[in-house]
Amino acid sequence: FSFDDLNLKPEILRGIFGYGYESPSSIQQRAILPITEGRDVLAQAQSGTGKTATFTIAALQRIDEKEKATQALILAPTRELALQIQKVVLAIGLHLEVTVHASIGGTSMKEDIEAFKAGVQIVVGTPGRVYDMIDRGYFRTDKIKMFILDEADEMLSSGFTEQIYNIFRLLPPTTQVVLLSATMPQDVLEVTTKFMRNPVRILV
Ligand code: AMP
Repeated sequence: FSFDDLNLKPEILRGIFGYGYESPSSIQQRAILPITEGRDVLAQAQSGTGKTATFTIAALQRIDEKEKATQALILAPTRELALQIQKVVLAIGLHLEVTVHASIGGTSMKEDIEAFKAGVQIVVGTPGRVYDMIDRGYFRTDKIKMFILDEADEMLSSGFTEQIYNIFRLLPPTTQVVLLSATMPQDVLEVTTKFMRNPVRILV
């Protein structure tokens, strides 16, 4: 089927087609709908499958543009990947009034704090800085409805386990969890059993 069959906001469809995508990849065909319906989704997928656009499209669909608080948190293992995700969100979300901020290590704390004060609807970040911003009270999590962990295996093997668990504990208990990982080692499975509810499992 095509992107038109996913019940997406017309602005998102314009963003997708404007970005040059014509038809959904396999993971996009299988994961976008359950994510937009609010289901927890566990996807085993490598880079190159179209995984970034999958959670980006679904997150944009779930954002309430009128609600100026942070509604989606996306975590990535590296600054570069977080910035790349932010670019995709901006491109596909071009025709929506949605704000996106990258909260990553190695950047000015002051600018980070200013962005949170202004109110940002989607946050893409690395676990260390994001946890720091939540812990210091700059990043308010009470309106978050979706938590996306990209390259979860990489994040857990690069020493971010404690920050990720800490962040989970500070999100509303009803938060939808979407986890993507190229591999499913024990530490990833532990996160899924601890924090995900009856997830839709997708293997690409
Ligand atoms: P990713 O798996 O997110 O790293 O994406 C791999 C590449 O596929 C990126 O260059 C994307 O821009 C591209 N891509 C993702 N979805 C589509 C699509 N539906 N049609 C064409 N290219 C796509």
